[in-house]
Amino acid sequence: MLKSCANSTINTEFGVFDIHIYVSADGKEQIVLTRGDVSAAEPILLRIHSECITSEVLHSLDCDCVAQLTLAFKKIDEANRGMIIYLRQEGRGIGLVNKIKSYELQHQGMDTVEAHEILGFPIDARDYSVVKDILEDRRVTEIIALTNNPDKIKQLSALGIAVIKREALEISPTATNRKYLSAKKTKMGHWLDLV
Ligand SMILES: [Zn+2]
Repeated sequence: MLKSCANSTINTEFGVFDIHIYVSADGKEQIVLTRGDVSAAEPILLRIHSECITSEVLHSLDCDCVAQLTLAFKKIDEANRGMIIYLRQEGRGIGLVNKIKSYELQHQGMDTVEAHEILGFPIDARDYSVVKDILEDRRVTEIIALTNNPDKIKQLSALGIAVIKREALEISPTATNRKYLSAKKTKMGHWLDLV
């Protein structure tokens, strides 16, 4: 059973959060932010967010990751209760080297799904199994998933996680990310009404 290795609080633009660091079996430091009593019976808002260093650190406008993360912070702050699990699986799980290779292929005209296929990866290589351990350790029983991704809900349910409801985190497309969002909608089935 995974246990948190360090716990404290952080002041953010969206108020104070408790922070818990877990080290998963692969040695990666997984980040968990919580607000309020997440172990109480009422389902919690939960954003399971996969690392996107290009948008979150490098200010890339080629995807919607940082905008979704920011919206999740806002929603949890407004509800004054919830959790963000930040998983260290860059590039839908293929890592930064392959993500940048994929970007280069996209500059040559492929979409994100075609680029992953050319590089020999599944469309989405993310793994959420660590989430179950984290939720158990924090004694969370039921969640409202903040996501546009039907596959994520399928995977969480398959892990035995009680997803009671979904709330969209939809961002208006921009000139630089419209093609990416369109591929997510048409090829990966993401629920994106604005694309
Ligand atoms: Zn991204």
